[in-house]
Amino acid sequence: MEKGKVYLVGAGPGDPKLITVRGLEALKRSDVVVFDRLAGPQLLNHAKPDAERIYVGKLPDRHTMKQEDINQLLVDLALQGKTVIRLKGGDPTVFGRVGEEADLLQKNGIIYEIIPGITSAIAVPAYAGIPVTHRDWASSFSVITGHESPDKLDHSIYWDKVTNATGTLVFLMGVAKIAYISEQLIKHGRSPETPVALVQWGTRAEQKTVVGTLSDIDERVKAANLKPPAVIIVGDVVRQRETLSWVEKKPLFGQRILITRARSQASDLLAKIDDLGGEAYEFPVIETKLPEQAEQLQAIERALSQAEAYDWIMLTSVNGVEYFFHWLDHYEVDVRRFHKAKFAAVGPKTAEALRARGIRADLMPESFIAEGLLDSLKDKISPNQLALLPRGDLARETLSKELRAQGVQAVEIDVYQTVMSVPKDLWLPEMLANGEIHVITFTSSSTVINLLEALRQLGVRNPAEALQNIEIACIGPITAKTAEENGLTVTVVPDKYTIDALVEALVDRRRMTKGD
Ligand code: SAH
Repeated sequence: MEKGKVYLVGAGPGDPKLITVRGLEALKRSDVVVFDRLAGPQLLNHAKPDAERIYVGKLPDRHTMKQEDINQLLVDLALQGKTVIRLKGGDPTVFGRVGEEADLLQKNGIIYEIIPGITSAIAVPAYAGIPVTHRDWASSFSVITGHESPDKLDHSIYWDKVTNATGTLVFLMGVAKIAYISEQLIKHGRSPETPVALVQWGTRAEQKTVVGTLSDIDERVKAANLKPPAVIIVGDVVRQRETLSWVEKKPLFGQRILITRARSQASDLLAKIDDLGGEAYEFPVIETKLPEQAEQLQAIERALSQAEAYDWIMLTSVNGVEYFFHWLDHYEVDVRRFHKAKFAAVGPKTAEALRARGIRADLMPESFIAEGLLDSLKDKISPNQLALLPRGDLARETLSKELRAQGVQAVEIDVYQTVMSVPKDLWLPEMLANGEIHVITFTSSSTVINLLEALRQLGVRNPAEALQNIEIACIGPITAKTAEENGLTVTVVPDKYTIDALVEALVDRRRMTKGD
């Protein structure tokens, strides 16, 4: 069998977007992903759906896999002919033991690539508003491990040389040793007044910074209960934070927001949250698929075969538009055959999806639930007209009922079906329990029902209770009602039922709960 290949890749410091383009490409094409805690679980969404995911970090019931075993694992997988990616936090060559992994691969004649990453040593300070060099204050910096036990630290770090060798000193893995490190630096000639910053979980929602001086940083770290992982920055560059702190100023900073809608529909919401400084966490509990049953397919084919007859095509979602056009193509129906039809679109996104296909909606109701469409239709539609309603299988029947009541002939077709999905995410239950998810967004009733069921399947015994201290944001009153009926306390419902309004409402809620 031909041997596989191993990519040794830096995943960046935590924010899943801080991976390199080359690293992302390797991730997308690999058959197996070997990863640990510092390479955020969300990055794995980019892996092939059927890629094997192997976690080699710590779990509640298990210690971290030994380095030798990881080295061997990579070799074994490659010998099975697989393309493997070993994802590591930050840069793989900075305290990442990539040398040992590469060494064993080399010995076994396996091809590998080392793809650098953005190291936390530089990126984490930057996210706290501390560039590691400064024209006036520091023209050099060192990156030092703070990991070793004090006697070993004395052997492997030449404090007399290191202390004053560069303007800025960056320590990784040093939180537990902060007292010892400060003491050594003072002893070897740094002023006790030297500014120091510790940044915990930089680039992630938990990012937290403590600033002090060499003489008091130890107490401050204890008082703030700062825990690893954190980067320690020593030197005058720390002062820049007073003016340059930028991440913390974003309106959704510190908020990890669960997105439950289908991945194919989530991009807009993701981008907006990201832009406002929140950390979107994808956990899609629904996915849309093509219908499979013969009757459904026949119904679509039949409905499209009389394209010329329709007076109205009424679309109620972006998915509806996309799947509708899928079927036109599938049954070879040229869109010009609907020459008589006017198009109605519920909501601006639906209209936009139509516009992208060269069709400008004739009617775009003000309000965004299906009932709104009826109001705006009343004087535009006459009895005996024929309307086509391409929709999802879970769509409510209000629209067609009302149309029929007005004498309109409504032909409904299920152009797509919505099915439940349970993402393979072992972390979510633990994150919920640890308060690491701050907000959950629901964009339809099925996302509510399915999330609760997905959590049950992941071993959460009482899902509604597990979500009690989390902000629950629903796109509209119908979704909110479903959430309340299922034991959730809804705290955010925008007055317009759009993604934009939902995000705005999240920002308002955050302002309110922060008290500013
Ligand atoms: N190869 C990694 C470093 C591995 S050593 C890199 O280049 O970043 C692990 C240490 O990195 C942690 O103990 C901590 O000091 C630091 N670290 C990594 N990610 C971090 C983050 N998001 N926030 C703060 N420190 C981080």
